[in-house]
Parts: sequence; C-alpha cells; structure tokens
Amino acid sequence: MVEPDRYGVVGSPIGHSRSPFIHAHFAAANSQSMIYSAYDVPSTKFPIWVKDFFAQGGRGLNVTVPHKESALLIADRLSERARQAGAVNTLVPEPSGKLLGDNTDGTGWIADLEVRGVSLRDRDVLILGAGGATRGILGPLLAQQPARITIANRHIERAAELVARFAQEAARNHSAFRAISLGDLVDDAAARLTPVDLVVQATSLGLDGRTPALSDALIAAHTIAYDLAYAEAAIPFCDWARSRGARQVFDGIGMLIEQAAESFRLWRGVRPDTRALRLELAGHSSLRNTP
Ligand code: NDP
Repeated sequence: MVEPDRYGVVGSPIGHSRSPFIHAHFAAANSQSMIYSAYDVPSTKFPIWVKDFFAQGGRGLNVTVPHKESALLIADRLSERARQAGAVNTLVPEPSGKLLGDNTDGTGWIADLEVRGVSLRDRDVLILGAGGATRGILGPLLAQQPARITIANRHIERAAELVARFAQEAARNHSAFRAISLGDLVDDAAARLTPVDLVVQATSLGLDGRTPALSDALIAAHTIAYDLAYAEAAIPFCDWARSRGARQVFDGIGMLIEQAAESFRLWRGVRPDTRALRLELAGHSSLRNTP
C-alpha cells in the first residue's frame, strides 16, 4: 500500500492549532492522500528538524510562532511574498531538491476580507502591533491601495522599521503611511483621535486574555474591527469593539482557513473550496462573527 504524503505545522507551543483539522478537511474534500500533523519543536532544534523532515520524504510544512523568521533562513529560495514579509509560513520542496519558502498569511487575510465584502481601497486603516503578522499582511494590504495606514506599536521603533521597509510600496500605491506609539491611542484629547474605517488587532495580547487600551474615539458606526487572533484570544478586543458600536467585528478564523487553502494549493496544485469549512468553524467558534 502507498503511504499517504506527509505534511504538518511546526511551532511551539502548537497544541491549540486548528491547522490539522483544516487540512484534514481539505484533503478529504479533494480526495488527496495525505496526513497533516502538528509538531512542537523548540527553536534550538528547528533547522535540523526541518532538514530531517524533508530528508525523510515530508512533502510540506506550515511554520508558525516562533519559527517564521528562522524558516526564512532555511529556505533555498523565497517567493516575493515571503521576501517582502521577511517571514515564511509555508515550506515547499521543489523537484530540484531545493526548498521554497513562501508566505500565505497576507493573501489569506485579503481573501477573507473579500469573502466578507470588505473593501480596502481608499480606506483609513489602523493596525495595532508590528510583529510577524503585521509584516505578513502589509504588502497585500498596500496593494489594495488604502488611503492611509497607521501602525501603532508598544515599541514604536518596530512600527517605524516597518514603515521604512514598506515605504516604496506605500508611495507606489499612493497610501499615506505612519508609525505611532500604541500609548498614543489611549488619550483622544491629547492625540486628537478620529474614527478609522478598519482597525486591525495584531498584537499577541489576546493570548493573555487582554486587549490594548484604546480610546473610544477610534470607533464610529462605520468602523470595521478585525482581530487576527481567533477563538478565545480574540474575545477581549472583539467585545471591546462591539460594545463601542463597531459596524462589523471579525476574528481571524477566516484568515486562518484562507491562508491554509493557499498553502494547500502550493503543495497539491488545487485551491480548496473553503465555504463549507468557513461555515463549520464559524459555528464552533466561541466568537460570533458579524456577517
Ligand atoms: P509577534 O510575537 O511577532 O508580535 C507580537 C506583537 O504584539 C508585537 O507588536 C508586540 O509589541 C505586541 N505585544 C506583545 N505584548 C504586548 C503588550 N503587553 N502590550 C502591547 N503590545 C504587546 O506575534 P505575531 O505578529 O506573529 O502574532 C500576532 C497575533 O496574530 C497572534 O495573536 C497570532 O495568533 C495572530 N495571527 C493570526 C493568524 C491567522 O491566520 N489568523 C496568522 C498569524 C498571526 P512589541 O513589538 O512592542 O513587543
């Protein structure tokens, strides 16, 4: 009997990951003979572990916290998306034996917003956080030509680094682009804050059951709030935004599904239909995304 092809997600910790469930669903729905497992691997062992996985016939890996930047160094070749993001979330062995590093996070996020009918063109977008997730979404976000992007981070220098890194992309798309301190979003009187069209929660605070302290002045009846985290980790921010009257509030489960579909396409050559899974996982989510 032919063994199924082996795939997986590697991170630490990894116990919470929904990726094995998502890829099992895609595999079954598309009649693909594959298994997909979650691997908890510490940073010190990551490079050698990846080498062994592929040497033993592994066919593809997703990479998550804290290994996305190490994966960038391991890959022999980078896609434009991965190079732009400075992070790899998908490893693909090529017929030549070389390892391709790609990043499907930003593409997945944009795909989710499209499904939800959210347009980014000419919008005023505020991103909270300047970590790997923000880096992953910035390129695809700028390509949608928003009017303005503000990155607010606890350590403002990390936000400023991102503004410098993507400055040319912003200029090409006629988007105003700036970095501020997360602390500046607390006091609307001092900062003269005004409501934004889209506020994206991209800090890891939700994992501790918290949300950044934010002025109510950021939210108006037209504001859409999106937390890149999903399930319990998204509850503090989503509750805050909903209670302040945001028009629509989403967690990151749709992004997770769509980035997985894009990784699946890279590995198997078929882009899974995500509709059934989106419905199923929305039903199981502890958060009720507004339609
Ligand atoms: P990183 O560790 O790279 O970045 C963490 C960010 O959170 C930084 O901006 C950091 O600020 C900020 N932060 C951490 N602690 C605090 C604090 N106490 N106060 C204020 N800010 C803080 O994480 P990622 O960018 O990789 O992930 C961010 C979130 O996005 C996670 O919840 C992750 O699960 C989610 N995600 C979801 C995906 C999906 O498919 N739905 C895909 C990828 C990520 P500073 O720089 O100042 O330290």
